[in-house]
Amino acid sequence: MSKPAIRTTCPYCGVGCGLRVHASGARSLELAGDTAHPANRGLLCSKGTALGETVGLDNRLLYPEIGGERASWDMALDRVAERFSDIVARHGPDAVAFYVSGQLLTEDYYVANKLMKGFIGSGNIDTNSRLCMSSTVAGHKRAFGADAVPGNYEDWELADLVVLVGSNTAWCHPVLYRRLLAAREKRGTRIVVIDPRRTATCDEADLHLALKPGSDVRLFNALLVHLAANDHADEEFVGAATEGLDATLAAACADGSALEAVARDCGLDAADLETFFSWFAGTERTLTVFSQGVNQSSQGVDKVNAIINCHLLTGRIGRPGMGPFSVTGQPNAMGGREVGGLANQLAAHMEFTAEHRDIVARFWRARRMAPHGGLTAVDMFRAVGEGRIKAIWIAATNPAVSLPDASRVREALARCEFIVVSDCIAGTDTGRYAHVALPAAAWGEKDGTVTNSERRISRQRAFLPPPGEARPDWWMFTQVAQRMGFADAFPYTAPAQIFREHAALSAFENHGSRIFDIGGLANIPDSDYDALKPVQWPVTPARREGTARLFTDRWFTTEDGRARFVAVHAGRPANLPTERFPLALNTGRLRDQWHTMTRTGLAPTLARHSPEPAVDLHPDDIAANGLADDGFARVVTRFGQGTFRVRATQNQRAGTAFLPIHWSDTGAADAVTGRLVNPVIDPISKQPEFKHTPARVEPVVMAWRGFALSRTAPVPPAGCYWAAVALKGGYLYEIAGETGVEPPSPSSLFGEPAATGEILEMHDARRGNRRFARIDDERLTHCLMIAAQGRLPPRAWLAGLLAADRLGPAERQMLLAGAPSEG
Ligand code: SF4
Repeated sequence: MSKPAIRTTCPYCGVGCGLRVHASGARSLELAGDTAHPANRGLLCSKGTALGETVGLDNRLLYPEIGGERASWDMALDRVAERFSDIVARHGPDAVAFYVSGQLLTEDYYVANKLMKGFIGSGNIDTNSRLCMSSTVAGHKRAFGADAVPGNYEDWELADLVVLVGSNTAWCHPVLYRRLLAAREKRGTRIVVIDPRRTATCDEADLHLALKPGSDVRLFNALLVHLAANDHADEEFVGAATEGLDATLAAACADGSALEAVARDCGLDAADLETFFSWFAGTERTLTVFSQGVNQSSQGVDKVNAIINCHLLTGRIGRPGMGPFSVTGQPNAMGGREVGGLANQLAAHMEFTAEHRDIVARFWRARRMAPHGGLTAVDMFRAVGEGRIKAIWIAATNPAVSLPDASRVREALARCEFIVVSDCIAGTDTGRYAHVALPAAAWGEKDGTVTNSERRISRQRAFLPPPGEARPDWWMFTQVAQRMGFADAFPYTAPAQIFREHAALSAFENHGSRIFDIGGLANIPDSDYDALKPVQWPVTPARREGTARLFTDRWFTTEDGRARFVAVHAGRPANLPTERFPLALNTGRLRDQWHTMTRTGLAPTLARHSPEPAVDLHPDDIAANGLADDGFARVVTRFGQGTFRVRATQNQRAGTAFLPIHWSDTGAADAVTGRLVNPVIDPISKQPEFKHTPARVEPVVMAWRGFALSRTAPVPPAGCYWAAVALKGGYLYEIAGETGVEPPSPSSLFGEPAATGEILEMHDARRGNRRFARIDDERLTHCLMIAAQGRLPPRAWLAGLLAADRLGPAERQMLLAGAPSEG
């Protein structure tokens, strides 16, 4: 590397890995894990390693648009400000909303939140982090009085027992998983996985408890009773630092704690359950990690507290190698929590109490302070559909794909009076509804901070110029605020200015009453902000080096300083399968994809892992429903349906199905998992239940199958099954059609050939087979293979030719065979 590398952070998961990046030429990157970053110490996972493949300009939104036509920034910003001001004037502040994202940087989030809650005067700003960890936020607040992860990543290496609950850590937080496995090599850490699915994380587990979906509270309540009954309570800690044990134990006992009964209710082997209880009871350094399997539930908050209760009882919190540990899905879910990105919070971890409203209002010199919390994600889009919200600004997220009951979300957007979408990507499923589209600067083009799952604030730094007229999100919100008449309160010209204000607010009239305090960074000059090293909050003037662990002094941020046990009841899981919908549908991430694939979908290296949207089913369910492995199925719920490839796996419990969350209408014909998901929410956190929707599967019989390879994105075939992935040098489309659906012709997919082009074709109309290749300038440019009978050629050889600069004579000769000659 010639120039010094830029230190930044990965934009994907909540691990928050540090990177060293060197950009050159036409957006080409050399990157490596930052060995000096405490989160990853140089490690990277497949997604982080492939970041260089995702910074091209192919699908970028480069210019502002009004009504789909290019417009100047002035025109677009004026239009946004006018329409929002007009709707607020006519219908009041609650008639507008912002729906933002854990992809935003803290500075972006801060400005958007300040504008909505302090100047427009509504609480209607919520974030897609609502879908990710709001149950944990609520659980933390109930137990600790504040939304705070007590420990840090080092605790993963210092623990003797790590319990991973509802977390496919190996795929979703891979670098942490690698740190855990490396530590295990040294100290023999035991790993227990509690998850209905047998995921990749189970491969290294000492024990996998494949509990029935929704039985987590039953399990942890029984563990609590077991610990109390067998003298594993830390009496001294419980007496000095907690409240509420008796009522909590009584609630836990009410469900019955006989081992056999608990095992039966959880669908587990009693001996396995006993082993887990005895390991937990006997291991002082126990870390319980939890993620979306816990959070994304209509009982998510209770699940979080059921876990925390066990740690409070044993006093295993605030010390090395132990504690409850929530891992966030998004890179800056934590940063959003810090600035009030959730509709029910104010900025700097403050609440909608009279005292906190007053503090924030005075600090901001707010013109119109929101009187109460706003609508949360699912309710927000319901209000859009009902016309109560008339204008919405959606920033850096794709709710038409990612929200539950996504078809209703689309209907709501289609009816909405005024929609602004700010995104770095053009033509997302949500962007198609935009009245005004604002081009956002992407990762690598903007400056700011993010906070990872261990409370560590890191810098994201720009190393590429924003293309076209793309601008940072904080700039857009600032410009609109100025045009709405709030210029004096939104004077920002650089992210450092915003960060200092955010830090100052965290310390304002705090006096130790709020644990989120980064007042030690409130006065840093621009140069220190530029050079800011990763640091864990709180960062106060007295503790500028940050804080590795919280609650080390057993003082919690409740009124009396004591942590709270929270009585939770196992109850009966909601949304049980029915005769019509006999399967429990679970959803989640794949190892190599991210959210709606707008970025990872561009990386050929990542496409290889799971190139098509597939439903995972147990072989018994495949047989019982007349499906075939590698065939196709329609997955149907009360809310919607989609068509997916069938994948048989023993990893799936019989009676359950799993769908990935990633595919949108830009990547596949009919595979938006969000359309199928029940919009039921946790009553406290308002987090939707993505993990459990009653569903059924129906066979889809394809009359023909095929694939297309192309150097340019083909026009997706109408009426067919199709799923697209990026390849080196182009795209691969898997296609198939039911009886009565004609296969696409080459010209409908690829357009008319260039005059210089050469076509090779074999068409057997009687058998319904077709093989087609187009060569231009000695290069393979397009290829279509269709088979109604017989087999299709493998994709790999042809895909390799697509990336080649020139075809050799032997390759040319074998193109329609689809495989190299063997001599
Ligand atoms: Fe990025 Fe997460 Fe992978 Fe780290 S573990 S490189 S933050 S995706």
